[in-house]
Amino acid sequence: MTDVIRYPAEMSRIAGELRLRGNTIGFVPTMGALHEGHVSLIRRSVAENDVTVVSVFVNPTQFGPGEDYERYPRTLDDDVEICVQEGVDFVFAPQPDDMYPRSMTTWVEVGGDLVNRMCGLSRPGHFRGVATVCAKLFNIVRPHTAYFGQKDYQQYLVVRRLVEDLNFPMEIALVPVVREKDGLARSSRNRYLRPGERESALSLYRALTKARDAVLAGETDASALLALMASEIESAGAELDYAVVADPVTLEDKERVDGPVLLAVAAWVGDVRLIDNFLVDPPQ
Ligand code: AMP
Repeated sequence: MTDVIRYPAEMSRIAGELRLRGNTIGFVPTMGALHEGHVSLIRRSVAENDVTVVSVFVNPTQFGPGEDYERYPRTLDDDVEICVQEGVDFVFAPQPDDMYPRSMTTWVEVGGDLVNRMCGLSRPGHFRGVATVCAKLFNIVRPHTAYFGQKDYQQYLVVRRLVEDLNFPMEIALVPVVREKDGLARSSRNRYLRPGERESALSLYRALTKARDAVLAGETDASALLALMASEIESAGAELDYAVVADPVTLEDKERVDGPVLLAVAAWVGDVRLIDNFLVDPPQ
């Protein structure tokens, strides 16, 4: 049975009882509009824990002014249906006012170079919103393990840092990117794409595939890989936000590929901003 919990205090009480009874709690934080990507996180959690909690919360503090907070898809009934089918125990779907009461004045900010790159540059304040909501959700749900998708790889690293720096007694698990048949990374934002824009959106995957193949064929010059990714995306009519060849732990830019690398891109397709990445292990 799946229970839908609306209030932080109630979720908190339930989590406390679950822990007292010795259950392990797996947690999948989402903004809803659930798709196969979310489902793969949910399946991992259900397989690995006694109890799974999925949160559905479009977190206002991680959206900047002029971003898509208002139009972000909200499909709670469908989301609950998916959670029922997947054997989720609790859907935690709070209201913004209950997560962010007027009295609240505390923020959680991960510092350092992890957040001063990639999405952190194009979306100022985004990771402060992510870190704050994750800290709150972790304290409410008290998971043993929280599951994050590789599609938002920088977010995964930021949350890992948060958990380590603030001593949250929990694990963070990384789940691979789930894609459509043609390679497009599944995203709640894909539903904004107009029919003609889907082909353009696919250029992110093509850019990453070409760069990965070049690395596997022995290319070590990061500037050549960046040029390859940029030209694939721009020639498809999308507007490149960033392309990086980076260290997968620190996110520092690499000049040469001399070990495992993160290839990551962000681009605007019309008014939709999409991201994607590959982790690549070059031949020795
Ligand atoms: P969101 O609802 O977009 O905030 O995503 C919630 C969680 O699902 C995050 O940890 C995402 O990284 C993960 N996720 C979203 N899309 C995918 C995907 N295509 N494959 C794997 N995980 C995903």
